[in-house]
Amino acid sequence: MSDVVSNLPPSPEEFQRQFADFMRQQFQTLGVKQVPQTETVGSAEDPPSKAAEPELRFDKKPREVKGYLDRFVIKQEEAKKVLSVALCDHYHHVRLAIQGKEQPNYTKQNIILIGPTGVGKTYLIRSAAELIGVPFVKGDATKFSETGYVGGDVEDLVRELVRRADGDVERAQYGIIYVDEIDKISAASNLAGRDVSGRGVQTNLLKLMEETEVPARSPQDIAGQVQAILEMQRGKRSPGVINTKHILFIVSGAFDGLEKIVRRRLREATIGFAARNQAIEDQGCLEHVTTRDFIEFGFEPEFIGRLPVRVVCHPLTAEDLFTILKHSEGSLIKQYEQTFAAYGIEVLFRDDGLRDIARLAGEEQTGARGLMTVCERVFRDFKYELPSTKVKRFVVNQELVENPRAGLDRVLDQQAMEETAVGHQLVNDFANRFTELHGLRIRFTEAAAGLLVAAALEQGLSVRDQCSSKFKDFQFGLKLIAQNTGQREFTIDRDAVEAPDKILSDWVVKSYRESKGPSAEVR
Ligand code: ADP
Repeated sequence: MSDVVSNLPPSPEEFQRQFADFMRQQFQTLGVKQVPQTETVGSAEDPPSKAAEPELRFDKKPREVKGYLDRFVIKQEEAKKVLSVALCDHYHHVRLAIQGKEQPNYTKQNIILIGPTGVGKTYLIRSAAELIGVPFVKGDATKFSETGYVGGDVEDLVRELVRRADGDVERAQYGIIYVDEIDKISAASNLAGRDVSGRGVQTNLLKLMEETEVPARSPQDIAGQVQAILEMQRGKRSPGVINTKHILFIVSGAFDGLEKIVRRRLREATIGFAARNQAIEDQGCLEHVTTRDFIEFGFEPEFIGRLPVRVVCHPLTAEDLFTILKHSEGSLIKQYEQTFAAYGIEVLFRDDGLRDIARLAGEEQTGARGLMTVCERVFRDFKYELPSTKVKRFVVNQELVENPRAGLDRVLDQQAMEETAVGHQLVNDFANRFTELHGLRIRFTEAAAGLLVAAALEQGLSVRDQCSSKFKDFQFGLKLIAQNTGQREFTIDRDAVEAPDKILSDWVVKSYRESKGPSAEVR
C-alpha cells in the first residue's frame, strides 16, 4: 500500500485516471464491478470476518416474540402480533436455509410499517433484532440517490450491516435493514417537488430486496478497492460480496394521504351499506390498505409486491405516553434516574408528575419523542445545578413539571432548610456534650445557633468544629465564674458567638466583681 501512497498524483482526477489504468492492466477491462467477486464472503482470510459457521439460534414462537416486545413497546398490539409472526416465519426459514433445508419458492416476509413519527416503529424493529440476535441498520430513503453519487447508495446499508455485525459477513447476510421515510420516494412525492429520484431508488432497493450480491467494498471507496487489489496480488482472497437473499427489509413512513385513498376505495365498494361505511369512518382504515392503494399512492407495483407484510402503528394518546413512562422497560424515566444517580441523587417520580409530562409531550405531536423534548426542558436546570449541591433526593410532582425553575428553587431551599435544621441539632449536641464533660450547662439562643450554622456552611467547616474552635476557652472561663459566683448555667447569645473571647473575659471580670459584693447578677 505504501508504494501506491507515495506515488499518489496531485489531483483526484489524475488519481482516478491512474486508478482506471491500473484496473485495466490488472483485469483487462475497466470498472470496479470487474473485480473478481465470485467467492462468497466470510472466509477465514477475510480480516474483519469472525465466524466461519453462521449461527442463528432463534427458535422462538410468535407469542414469545410478542411477549418480549410488550416489555418495551406500549400499545401497537396488532403491529406487534403481525410483526412477531413475520419475524418468526422469516428467521425459521433462514435457519432451515443455513442448515441446507431451504423451502423452495419461499416468499420473503419484507414489511411495510405505516405510522406517524415517534410511535415505536423503529423501537419495535430494533428490539426484535436484539431478541433475535441479528444486526440492524436504519437508513432514510430521502438520503439516497439513484446513482449513489449524490447522497448515499442503498448498497451502503448492506455494507453497514457488516460493520454492525463486527465484520461478520455471514451474520450480516441475515440482518435487518430498515428504511424510513419510504413514502417520500413515491412518485406522488416527486411530483410535489422533492429532489429525490424516487423511482430509481425504488428500483435499487427492489434489487436488494429480491436477491443480489453487494460488493463488500464500496465502488466509491477507491482506497479500499486499491487495497483489495493489492491484497489479491499478495495472494489474499478477495473481500467478496454480501448476498441479500436472507436480509429482511422493513420500510416505513407516515404515508400522509394514503388513508384518504383507502377510505375512498372502501366507500366506493360499500355504497349503500351505511353501517359498514360508518365503521370505516370510525376505526380508521389503514388496516385495509391493499397493493392497489400503494400503487395509487405512487409506488411501483414490483416494489410494493416485494413487501407483503403490512403493519399499522397508531398515534399515541397522553395516557399511552404516561404508560410508556411508567411501564416500558426502556422508559426515559429510568434514564433520568441513572443520570442523577451518577451524582448520588435519588429521584422519585410521582404519578401526577408523570401524567403532566405525558400531557405536555402529547401537545408536541411527535409521539413518544415529545417525552424527550419535555423531560429535557423540565430537567435541564436540575441536571446542571444539583450535582454541585448537597441535594441527595427530590420528588418530581405536577407542581415541579409545571414550573421547573420554581421547583428547583424549592428543592434548593428545602435542602438549605434541612441543612440548617440539622445544623441546629448539632449546636445543641455540642452544648449537651459540653455539659456532660465539664459539669456546666450551656445553652445557645436560636439566633446564636443560626449564626454558628451559617458560619460553618460558609466556611465549609463542620458545625462541631466551628463550635469547638469558637468556644475553646469557655470551659476554663466558665469554671472560674462558677467558682466566683456559683453560677452553673450560661446562655450564649449572638454577641457571644460574634466575639466569644471578649464576652467570656467580660463575664469573668464581672464575676470577680460580683463575688466581692452582694448584688450578684444572675445570667
Ligand atoms: P418512529 O415510530 O418514528 O420510528 P421510534 O420507534 O424511534 O419512533 O420512537 C422514538 C422513541 O420513543 C423510542 O426510542 C422509544 O424510546 C419511544 N417510544 C416510541 N413509541 C413507543 C411505544 N409505543 N412504547 C414505548 N416506547 C416508545
